[in-house]
Amino acid sequence: MANKGTLYIFTGPSGTGKGTLLRDVMRHDDKLFLSVSATTRAPREGETHGVHYFFLSHEEFDRRVAAGEFLEHATYVGNSYGTLEAPVQQHLDEGNDVILEIEVQGAQAVHAKRPDAVMIFVAPPSFEELEKRLSGRGTEHADTVRARLETARMELTHACEFDYIIVNDDLEVATRELASIFVAERCRNRDKHQITL
Ligand code: ADP
Ligand code: 5GP
Repeated sequence: MANKGTLYIFTGPSGTGKGTLLRDVMRHDDKLFLSVSATTRAPREGETHGVHYFFLSHEEFDRRVAAGEFLEHATYVGNSYGTLEAPVQQHLDEGNDVILEIEVQGAQAVHAKRPDAVMIFVAPPSFEELEKRLSGRGTEHADTVRARLETARMELTHACEFDYIIVNDDLEVATRELASIFVAERCRNRDKHQITL
């Protein structure tokens, strides 16, 4: 069945500002739904089960993989992350736009299954700035920060596979750029409709 809403894949290295940008844009756009992923990583302070993530044990995550519940799933810095397919499909069928905030392997997997998904990559202005933001956020131990930065080097090499690249230097500019992508995609004539007046 054709989707009524648009599926967005939103990717970029940890600490590049994805969450910050999405929060800003979604405040002014009530047709965008952010998919709630499942993960085996421990909740951070202030994170709530079912709101930020579905926090699952490794056993429960694997059970759901075996049951075919994920649109995609991947291992990232020692933990599993995955997108549950049913709620995403339901939102799309209802005509809502859905955003998957996921890492690169997941982005590639979704793109292979849903080639019509719009792929957005958020890059930092420099590697030094990424390091500063990720450590400055204070949510990860030093060794996890290091592992995430190593992964970031690999992730940045895949930016060329995406439809849009936003360099999140000035937050206000980047927020405007992201909002513009959603507006432009709504005007896109995907099905080559004819105007009848
Ligand atoms: P991500 O969701 O990509 O992991 P976050 O949105 O958590 O990243 O941002 C990481 C840190 O960088 C946060 O402390 C956030 O406030 C900060 N940040 C985000 N965008 C900018 C920006 N344009 N300039 C400076 N700091 C930023
Ligand atoms: P964090 O632990 O910082 O919340 O997320 C770590 C990385 O996992 C980020 O790059 C984030 O985009 C990604 N991620 C979050 N949810 C999913 C998911 O459902 N699937 C995949 N593949 N990656 C995810």
